[in-house]
Amino acid sequence: MTTTGLGGRLTVDLGALARNWRALDKVSAGALTGAVIKADAYGTGLVPAALALSAAGAMFFFVATPDEGVALRGALPKAHIFVLDGLYPGAAELYVRERLMPAIASLEMLEEWLAHCVKHGQAFPAAFHFDTGMNRLGFRHNDVPVVRQLSEQLGFQPQMVMSHLACADSPAHEKNRTQLALFQAVVQQFPNIPASFANSAGLMTGREYHFQMVRPGIALFGGRAVNGRKNPMSPVVTLEAPILQVKEAKTGESVGYGASYTIDRDSRLAVIGLGYADGFLRSISGTNIRAGGRALVRGQLVPIAGRVSMDLIVLDVTELGDNLPVPGEMVELLGPNVSVDDQADAAGTIGYELLTALKGRYNRTYVGGPERPK
Ligand SMILES: *Cc1c(COP(=O)(O)O)cnc(C)c1O
Repeated sequence: MTTTGLGGRLTVDLGALARNWRALDKVSAGALTGAVIKADAYGTGLVPAALALSAAGAMFFFVATPDEGVALRGALPKAHIFVLDGLYPGAAELYVRERLMPAIASLEMLEEWLAHCVKHGQAFPAAFHFDTGMNRLGFRHNDVPVVRQLSEQLGFQPQMVMSHLACADSPAHEKNRTQLALFQAVVQQFPNIPASFANSAGLMTGREYHFQMVRPGIALFGGRAVNGRKNPMSPVVTLEAPILQVKEAKTGESVGYGASYTIDRDSRLAVIGLGYADGFLRSISGTNIRAGGRALVRGQLVPIAGRVSMDLIVLDVTELGDNLPVPGEMVELLGPNVSVDDQADAAGTIGYELLTALKGRYNRTYVGGPERPK
């Protein structure tokens, strides 16, 4: 949908994205630094994000689905693209045509891929994904012998062996060490094949998690990777919405659907034009029982009053006193002053969910990029 520019405004700072990638590349200096740009690059836009990361030096990209891989291939003809979901049944032809490398996770996937290689007399590149304790996608570690046997009998070697951490956001969690030990045992069975283990949090946790390629996602987009630590990344996404009305409300009155927020003092409220239909989660609502998210108005953080509705949010701006905002002013809902993670914490969720939910009616602007996308 084309926009008039009058509604909510989502600004993606591609310069910050590039800086974040370079900063992580420095931390993982001994390894290659990939970029995970699944889910429309964590809501920021797959193609613009990919072009900015590529200009910053990234050459290895990870998407979740073949569709994302095809979209990325269209933008970056030379990129190395891994598909984290693996090989979708019946899709080997497409992967090869688009030069997508599946993270092969099961014997079915492996057999289909190898059959395709045999048919064409070529070893098409792919990664092997081992499950080291998450019980999500991946071969089990005791599949190593059969995986090796099937591939070696055809002279097939994977481009990379990978696994994924379940608890990297909590570096002290014992499971990190257990998974690391298991992955090391798997990697030993694939001598001379590059290995990849760390997501953003793993990358920030320590050298021993880096192996030959790291796979940061959330940290590139400014989100918090490790819990309980200061987030060193630059914010990438700024979300703003216009004030539509400023009004007075009296003690004892309520705000919004369900009358879930009652006013305990004469107040001033600002109504802004953005809601859950824009991906601004309804769980960010602020009620009498549970404080919700906040917004920055005239340089000050103010609480969300009542439920987030489909298209509107009410802010309690009483604390601003005489410095009252006026209709048309923009309010920051995410950005340098209201972090994705603070807002997500208020909603009882994670920055990942909030970022990937952002869609809908925004006027999207890209700044700081190497190229200005349409
Ligand atoms: C999403 C994902 C990543 C990136 O994780 P972040 O926590 O966003 O850094 C890395 N590897 C796999 C397998 C993933 O699914």
